[in-house]
Amino acid sequence: MGRSVKQGSAAGRVAVIGELNVDLIAGGLGGAPVFGGEILAPEFEMTLGSASAIFACGVARLGHPVTFVSRVGRDHFGRFCLEALRGAGVSTRRVVQDAGLRTGVTISLSTRRDRALVTFLGAIAEVSPGQAPPELFRRHRHLHLTSYFLQRRLRPAFPALLAEARRRGLTTSFDPNSDPAQDWGDGLKDVLRETDILFVNEEEARLLTRQRKVEAALAQLGRSVPCVAVKLGARGAAAIRGGEVRFAPGFAVEAVDTTGAGDSFAAGFVHGALGGKKLRECLELGNACGALSTMRPGGTAGQPDRARLTQFLQTVKKQAASAAPGSN
Ligand code: ADP
Repeated sequence: MGRSVKQGSAAGRVAVIGELNVDLIAGGLGGAPVFGGEILAPEFEMTLGSASAIFACGVARLGHPVTFVSRVGRDHFGRFCLEALRGAGVSTRRVVQDAGLRTGVTISLSTRRDRALVTFLGAIAEVSPGQAPPELFRRHRHLHLTSYFLQRRLRPAFPALLAEARRRGLTTSFDPNSDPAQDWGDGLKDVLRETDILFVNEEEARLLTRQRKVEAALAQLGRSVPCVAVKLGARGAAAIRGGEVRFAPGFAVEAVDTTGAGDSFAAGFVHGALGGKKLRECLELGNACGALSTMRPGGTAGQPDRARLTQFLQTVKKQAASAAPGSN
């Protein structure tokens, strides 16, 4: 890649500036509900939601100190978010509790395969650029931004925040997440210009590039961003970096809830990149973190620490070796 992610300690400090909300998850649904009807949810959980927070918890679990900048209401859901962050080892010093706002909520209707989301923005849309002065980036290695379309107040500042981080020697990653308005405006180009690692899922890759095939979308995005990873759900993920293209298959796990799998994937991939890992290994780490996250309800409960991640990879490799032809 043009700008390489610095080698060194695997536990570089990571900054995340972004939204916070709770997820109310009705899980294990047999199918989609319809208006006028009622279905029963076998499971229900209230968990820490939001792509930014799930990524922040994911990298914190993997041993990175995390600075998290955000805003919640001064309410029960806001306190729940703060406690969950602290429980995952993320500092909440830079999370503003705003008495004039209500904390955001995402209602997630989740089957084993996919989910439908309904989001009340509240404080999500009110994280402001003023909360992230340039000194914030001192002694940090990396900045991650996500939920571009939901963060209305922060959105115009995305390019400047990423550029400032780069000026100060940080690498940057960005996951736009889907646009509820399906508009995919032109502003994204300015963000991509300041991005070192771009994360998108298959549908987003197609919408962004207007290409039908993932390979073509990857190649096109790879011309404007040094490293691009396309998440392919249970099938795994593909990536391009400095002209090198790799695909890594997903891990076969008992998935119960895919909420936040993409953000856990990004946490694993960034952890690998900060540790100077090869592209194939970054994909493997991302896939493992994504797969592990699907095994528990919510975005953060299944996120591994480094020991769990290593153990998981060793176990699946042993299983693959013993299943290979010629082994007993
Ligand atoms: P997003 O949530 O951003 O749409 P995906 O659904 O593609 O992203 O999930 C992100 C990653 O999580 C995938 O690339 C894969 O590594 C992992 N993953 C997702 N769903 C499953 C699954 N059912 N089984 C195993 N791994 C999964």
